[in-house]
Amino acid sequence: MKITGIMNDILSVPQWTLFLDRDGVINKRIVDGYVLHYEELILMPFLKEALHLLKGKFYKIIVVSNQQSVGKGLCSYDEVVQIHNRLNEDLQKENIAIDHFFFCPHKAEDDCPCRKPKTGMAYEAQKMFPEIDFKRSIMVGDMITDIQFGHALGMTTVYVGEKDVPNRDQIMELADFSFENLYEFAQLFKSK
Ligand SMILES: [Mg+2]
Ligand SMILES: [Zn+2]
Repeated sequence: MKITGIMNDILSVPQWTLFLDRDGVINKRIVDGYVLHYEELILMPFLKEALHLLKGKFYKIIVVSNQQSVGKGLCSYDEVVQIHNRLNEDLQKENIAIDHFFFCPHKAEDDCPCRKPKTGMAYEAQKMFPEIDFKRSIMVGDMITDIQFGHALGMTTVYVGEKDVPNRDQIMELADFSFENLYEFAQLFKSK
């Protein structure tokens, strides 16, 4: 489907869901490290402007994030929840809060059902918000695992990030669309 067809459907049918990866989409990814404190959560440029354009166009805006910092014992489950709560308090002031943050706290080697590219978090989201329809969902992420996650669920997939990533070819083959960042994607909704 072309982006214009998807856009028309999003704008006419109010049940599309937007799934967002966190690190590299909402906030800057810490290379070889983790966001362990709220102060380390540096928002991506124009993140709020992007959310202003996207909010209200979707049934829900949901974050799905791998946070193996918890499994590695670098921070607790509750500390991650607190970081998300503080971010949402900030976003709520502008009425652009995220509807829910789902995260996988397990380590890669735990082989859990919720670490992307596995699809567990999408089904958790659907349990919480039963009207979620994966065929009418968009997954935005900066890693091949995000695109694989969305693809496996039949979502429309959007890669955001740099043009010279290691597995660029693989990403481009699987992703339906590619933008520099969430703000560039959100521009599609400008004055709609
Ligand atoms: Mg990411
Ligand atoms: Zn998990």
